[in-house]
Amino acid sequence: MNVQPDLEFIRSLKEAGGDTLKKCYQCATCSVTCPLSKDGSPFPRKEMIWSQWGLKEKLIADPDVFLCHQCGDCTESCPRGAKPGDVLGAIRAYAYTFYGWPAPLAKLASSAKGLPMLIGIPVVVIFVMWLISGAMHIPTSEQFADHGYQQFFGHWDFKWYAKNIFFIVLIMVPSLGLGLFSAFKGVTRMWKTMSENAGINPDYRPSVGQFTKEFLWPSVVEIVQHNRFRECTVNIDRVRGHLPLMLAFIGLFIVTCWSLIKNDVLGLIWPSLHGPMLLIDPFKILANVSAIALLFGISVLWSNRKKAEQELDTKATFYDWFLIWEITAVGITGLGAELLRWAGAPTFGYIVYFLHLVSIMMLFLYLPYTKFAHLIYRTAAYTFEKYRESAFAQK
Ligand code: SF4
Ligand code: SF4
Repeated sequence: MNVQPDLEFIRSLKEAGGDTLKKCYQCATCSVTCPLSKDGSPFPRKEMIWSQWGLKEKLIADPDVFLCHQCGDCTESCPRGAKPGDVLGAIRAYAYTFYGWPAPLAKLASSAKGLPMLIGIPVVVIFVMWLISGAMHIPTSEQFADHGYQQFFGHWDFKWYAKNIFFIVLIMVPSLGLGLFSAFKGVTRMWKTMSENAGINPDYRPSVGQFTKEFLWPSVVEIVQHNRFRECTVNIDRVRGHLPLMLAFIGLFIVTCWSLIKNDVLGLIWPSLHGPMLLIDPFKILANVSAIALLFGISVLWSNRKKAEQELDTKATFYDWFLIWEITAVGITGLGAELLRWAGAPTFGYIVYFLHLVSIMMLFLYLPYTKFAHLIYRTAAYTFEKYRESAFAQK
């Protein structure tokens, strides 16, 4: 076999935490140890040799790379001190940039060097929108006590639709839309690459309903229940942080959707539906429970990552921390804005609220390039794994 290593690819793996890949001497202990590896397609030994050879095309088209939960079981058992879990993590980080769309944004979000620009984009967008809204001023203490942040982007007398909501929707919906569209483009590209690599005939396809019922839905259930993740041993604590974090995201997503429907659709018919939810509103309760789960999950993941860095000597990369920083920023600025409102400090309150909007926009816009992408790409990989073993792929 004529191996043409992609040296640039090997270099980027090393930079993203895969610097131990050269230590591997192919004993296969890791494939035997890995609780998620299957007999028919064991990993991560083969990925280690492909990485050493710089076989980028094979690795980014390999669903096994995305099935790994980076639990560290293999890393602990490796007799050579290689860290296959970290190498697979580095391959995934590379793949998310490779599949990412638009490419310049995906590249920017792949390293800490891009951080000033990543923060600068939402800062400029929100600042310009604040300027355009004509509401750019700090309110008096009385106005702040009466309205909080509900007139950050100003106020108009059109009772059907609040100006503040209009501007927030104008900023956040396109950001989320772009994030979701980018994720969709990335996943479809990944699926196509994997199908071609596995030699699947594209002429035989199930209907959308059949695909959802037989392949997609069972994968979603498996991921939500964390069934495979629970099989890991060394780093099982990660499940305790990962699960509440994922459920918190689902909860907050439901609340956000309901909030949009309530304010922007139903509120046009029944104006009384505008405004903040009552504390006893089920959606408010769901929002608060999700916020607590989010903070709990993030604190577990934070301490767990620190522990892994010390005990397993794993290197933290920008990719590992970016989503954790983003969520922490959303939580801290949100809580800070609320506390400053109670304290009656409009100047600091408005500054922190501005940063809160910036951090939310970052979360939406960079969604397909952070660890959040796991949720999307891993679901696709689980689905592909089931699909490739089905009769459709065998035809
Ligand atoms: S990574 Fe370690 S355990 Fe796995 S094949 Fe290489 S040397 Fe063996
Ligand atoms: S990190 Fe865990 S899931 Fe990933 S290859 Fe190693 S043992 Fe398997």
